[in-house]
Amino acid sequence: PNGLTLTAARQAAARAYELDRRHVFHSWSAQAQIDPMTISASQGCYVWDGEGNRLLDFSSQLVNTNIGHQHPKVVAAVQQQAAKLCTVAPQHVNDARSEAARLIAERTPGELNKIFFTNGGAEAVEHAVRLARLHTGRHKVLARYRSYHGGTETAINLTGDPRRWPNDHGNSAVVHFFGPFLYRTQFHAGDESEETERALAHLEQTIAFEGPSTIAAIVLESIPGTAGIMIPPPGYLAGVRALCDKYGIIFIADEVMSGFGRTGKWFAIEHFEGVTPDLLTFAKGVNSGYVPLGGVAISPAIAATFDNRAYPGGLTYSGHPLATAAAVATITAMADEGIVENAAEIGARVLGPGLRELAEHHPSIGEVRGTGVFWALELVRDRATREPLAPYGGTSAAMTEVVAACRAAGLLMFVNFNRLHVVPPCIVSEAEAKEGLAILDRALTVADQHTS
Ligand code: PMP
Repeated sequence: PNGLTLTAARQAAARAYELDRRHVFHSWSAQAQIDPMTISASQGCYVWDGEGNRLLDFSSQLVNTNIGHQHPKVVAAVQQQAAKLCTVAPQHVNDARSEAARLIAERTPGELNKIFFTNGGAEAVEHAVRLARLHTGRHKVLARYRSYHGGTETAINLTGDPRRWPNDHGNSAVVHFFGPFLYRTQFHAGDESEETERALAHLEQTIAFEGPSTIAAIVLESIPGTAGIMIPPPGYLAGVRALCDKYGIIFIADEVMSGFGRTGKWFAIEHFEGVTPDLLTFAKGVNSGYVPLGGVAISPAIAATFDNRAYPGGLTYSGHPLATAAAVATITAMADEGIVENAAEIGARVLGPGLRELAEHHPSIGEVRGTGVFWALELVRDRATREPLAPYGGTSAAMTEVVAACRAAGLLMFVNFNRLHVVPPCIVSEAEAKEGLAILDRALTVADQHTS
């Protein structure tokens, strides 16, 4: 698919690999211990590695390419924009940015009608926090354990996973709390309604002990992604909204991973009727990562704070023409082609039932969770004790072997600690979903061997 012969493609990939290992410094990695996979080409739900092997992409490249790889309308839009106007400073108007802002504002919940553009998710979170702090005049931010909010200074401190530890210098004014997660409950709850009630009581107590008048915002992923796709139980997000209203706290919904069709709706928060955040962060699916783009959707009240007072923040590439042209084409194609509906349908009819069926005969599957094309398999050594197949924050031979078995059989997975995430593009067909499920079925026998 990249137009090269197999021999030429392999030679190009070998050179890329050699240069990568010599000159590229990789994210989140011990540089000498990694053997990164080369991706030479991609199309639809598939990618090709450096050897020319085709793999079904159940990772969507960090849960990013919701519209699938190389969508012709998005590629054409980027090419046309490049030919017309490649770059413009953010203080000027440009048509791609205006149109992208309209399309996003029309889809975000409630009246989040002003869009501040960034280059990705972490910057969106940074600016959401800054907006909340300046609007409220307060400094602290509450965030969940078992969350990911990005790799920059405030975003990594908000993150509730071990990547924060080496980056946390204790001066970020971030306080963590436990969210609801019935499978590994902190609250000794027996069912979802009890989990909701106790998780909200814990949050309110955290607010009381920290001092409501010091708390600018609560930031939450509407459905936590990297941390395990835990769908909040009924009433939880409405309860968070009510606590924010009671104490004058800004509710920031982080939809960087869950937004733009991933969960079978434009935004995951729509699964929870009547809950509207004050700020909503997005990135990834907004243009499927074809060109870096993220942003914050802002409520009228927060936007009005800066009507006659300058917002003290900006980015040279805010609303970059190539990125916003890609967003316009992506959102338009997703709407025209029913791609969000496809994600909902495949999740409800194929992936959900298929994964639950796998759980019936694979003892290594502790729990299946998800919606749309946003699923996680929680792998365990023992279903009774729920001992994870890899420790929190770590990996294990068992997990490495399962992922390798998937890859050898032509399936690329997103993996985090003891979880396999099933997160194909939103365009995934029934046949492709079933192809992936069949490979998973075979690969999970490897995990089953590690159960007691
Ligand atoms: N928030 C969430 C919920 C995310 O999943 C991510 C990235 N996976 C980020 C923020 C950070 O986005 P980026 O890597 O584009 O900075």
